[in-house]
Amino acid sequence: MKTIAANACRIVLALTFIFSGYVKASDPLGTQYKIHDYLEALGLAAYAPDWLTLCSSIALSAVEFSLGIFMLFAIRRRATSAAMLLFMMAMTAITVWIAIADPVSDCGCFGDAVILTNMQTLAKNIVLLACAATVYAWPLRMYRFISRPAQWIAINYTILFSLASSIVSLYLLPPFDFRPYHIGADLLKGMEIPADAPQPQFTTTFVLEKNGERKEFTLDDYPDSTWTFVDSKTVQTSEGYVPPIHDFSIQLEDGTDATDNILTHKGYTFLLISPHLETADDSNFGDIDRIYEYAKQHDIPFYCLTASTGKAIQHWQDITGAEYPFANTDETTLKTVIRSNPGLLMLRGPVIVGKWSHNALPDISDPDVSPDKLQSLHDNTRPASQKVLLVILWFILPLTMLTLADRTWAWTKWIRRKRVKPQQHIKHLKTKNNMRKKIVAGNWKMNMNLQEGIALAKELNDTLTAEKPNCGVIICTPFIHLASVAQFLNQDVVALGAENCADKEKGAFTGEVSAEMVKSTGAQYVILGHSERREYYNETPEILKEKVLLALKNGLKVIFCIGESKEEREANKQNEVVKAELEGSVFNLTAEEFANIVIAYEPIWAIGTGLTATAEQAEDIHAYIRSVVAEKYGQEVADNTSILYGGSCKASNAPELFAKPDIDGGLIGGASLKAADFKGIIDAWK
Ligand code: PEP
Repeated sequence: MKTIAANACRIVLALTFIFSGYVKASDPLGTQYKIHDYLEALGLAAYAPDWLTLCSSIALSAVEFSLGIFMLFAIRRRATSAAMLLFMMAMTAITVWIAIADPVSDCGCFGDAVILTNMQTLAKNIVLLACAATVYAWPLRMYRFISRPAQWIAINYTILFSLASSIVSLYLLPPFDFRPYHIGADLLKGMEIPADAPQPQFTTTFVLEKNGERKEFTLDDYPDSTWTFVDSKTVQTSEGYVPPIHDFSIQLEDGTDATDNILTHKGYTFLLISPHLETADDSNFGDIDRIYEYAKQHDIPFYCLTASTGKAIQHWQDITGAEYPFANTDETTLKTVIRSNPGLLMLRGPVIVGKWSHNALPDISDPDVSPDKLQSLHDNTRPASQKVLLVILWFILPLTMLTLADRTWAWTKWIRRKRVKPQQHIKHLKTKNNMRKKIVAGNWKMNMNLQEGIALAKELNDTLTAEKPNCGVIICTPFIHLASVAQFLNQDVVALGAENCADKEKGAFTGEVSAEMVKSTGAQYVILGHSERREYYNETPEILKEKVLLALKNGLKVIFCIGESKEEREANKQNEVVKAELEGSVFNLTAEEFANIVIAYEPIWAIGTGLTATAEQAEDIHAYIRSVVAEKYGQEVADNTSILYGGSCKASNAPELFAKPDIDGGLIGGASLKAADFKGIIDAWK
């Protein structure tokens, strides 16, 4: 249930954040205007310059989009889920405020693509907050869709993609236009109010006085003439129908309203849009002037619509040589019409047929090009479905290619290392060999009662204290022995470990023993991933991953067992098997965490069977395991990792096995139950 809940919530969060992040990234100016609205409601707009609100808009979209993608692919699961929870807590607090105080009419969560009321936004955020809390509770239950080594590529590419989307949209125009002024929109139709549309409702209250007493009345209970009128108040109780385009008007410089004239003109009209001429980009004025000349030549009316005053218009004319007429339109309307300052609109009658940023104005190098041809020169002609597909391809294709390139590079590196001459290889390892710890660890399994266990531990402790071993010695005992055995051991000589620990931190898990409990007995190690527990107790890689994390969290070192079955060895699949076991349960660790892992290679066919892998067989696979660790964490970490051999290891075969450069000791089952046998193996290091 936890896995299903974590993954379901992760998908909901991922899709919502990818959508809201991309919608914002594709219209950074729209998001900037919304941020400005919020700051205005807080009385802070005067302190936030335009560059700051624009950068905040781009950063906000990058954060949302990246969190969405990281959630989708389950990248850096713990950090991403913590960041997601923090983000949702902050956003929910803001939406509680807007739901109560109503400072903005639309939250702007999904840009202009989906408009929610403030109450709808609050409900949405409460659901998302619950999802974020669920994912935060069980981050490691999210299935990864991208391997750990490839994550850095996805992280960088996602951030880059989001920033590039914002920059391209700023330079050109948003690729998706959700506003009522999109190409193909009929401005007159957008202003129409249907005959049966709901009308705005008003209520009037009258204040009247009689014999010094003042009372309020409505038209329904208006009293007789003995009352004297004092005051009246009229309030709007419902807004009625508001057409999508309700504030578009064009006022010429002489004060006449030219809206109807322009929108009912039969042919084409050019409208150069600049909400503020003071902040308009004047770098493309030459192209604008050429389009004006073209308009005159083809008898096409041309106006510049702005909310700026005469002084700013004069300044613009001085610096650009503009000769076209200017007209006045509401600033917010102009900002909604086109996300470019200045931007160019081409109308045919009341219909918008072309829309250009000043950075990509239509090319009229041939002044005889027909206006019909010109109107098709905007680059927003693709259907929305094609644009969505293009965006997805722009994200997926380069990401896939980068990942493939990275994996190929890692693979060739591995091959090159394998090709190093065997002699060189051994010499290299021998020098490095001194860096890692030699270990002989005993695994008592389910043997010996408490008294027998204490006796064996004491005997070993005494023997090895008297005659210092040349390696680290560990005994791993059943839980029941740990606390008592710990009393008798000098752990500088014989360290203590458990044979297992729970995959849960604490709570109602009858019969389980947590990593914290193991640690509290004085034990320092725990064996995890033993083939008997994988086989008889169905311990999966995911369960083991949890156990490893909990053990490390509680300060235990882990002896992590891997190894192939007889059938897998016969099918020559041993390398594949051990690599998958490492990847499944310990390669999620950081290099620092991995330093607390001792690997025990134990071929299942050799455990307790009397069959031992030959020293060559064991060395081959140990060298391979080290190369896999090196590929993952680098050569230095690999050289520092102790890799033990386990499987019918005894005093007679230990010296040959331990002589191999990549075998750093043994994990001993049966032969660890008698002090003399175990000591015989320890002595192999002498
Ligand atoms: C073991 O189970 O860890 C082991 C190596 O057992 P044995 O030595 O008995 O094969």
